[in-house]
Amino acid sequence: MTLHDTYDSDNIFAKILRGEMPAVKVYEDDTALAFMDVFPQAEGHTLVIPKDVEARNLLEMPPEKLGPYMLAVQKVAKAVEAALKPDGLVVTQFNGAPAGQTVYHLHFHIIPRTEGQALGRHGSGGMADMGELEKLAARIRAAV
Ligand code: 5GP
Repeated sequence: MTLHDTYDSDNIFAKILRGEMPAVKVYEDDTALAFMDVFPQAEGHTLVIPKDVEARNLLEMPPEKLGPYMLAVQKVAKAVEAALKPDGLVVTQFNGAPAGQTVYHLHFHIIPRTEGQALGRHGSGGMADMGELEKLAARIRAAV
């Protein structure tokens, strides 16, 4: 999927938004939904996606919806920091497969970093234990 393809409404995040696929949710408002990444690059890896848009990436996001969405990204990033107290936090986003994107509905990654610990590889980690994800999500939810 390059930058020049079209939105596929059957992508996994669109299905999560429609309630057709499960997700371990941490935050939701009118503009965004945040949930745990099931193949985390680090403990607490959280994704924030915009609602009610067919935007595959940042470039396709309607400008009038970008501000409220980014406020939600910041809110969730602050909650992850408050809940897990990491040494650092990666907030990142990929546009198109050649840039590393694998799911084509806009999302920001929020990835806690611990000093001295290598970051897990993007898109090739193992699936998380759902019980552990639920526990992390509860801590982040409590900090939103
Ligand atoms: P991208 O590669 O598009 O930047 O990021 C997609 C992210 O979605 C990856 O970090 C991947 O681990 C995560 N992911 C893929 N499938 C699922 C899923 O079914 N549920 C959740 N919660 N995350 C997923």
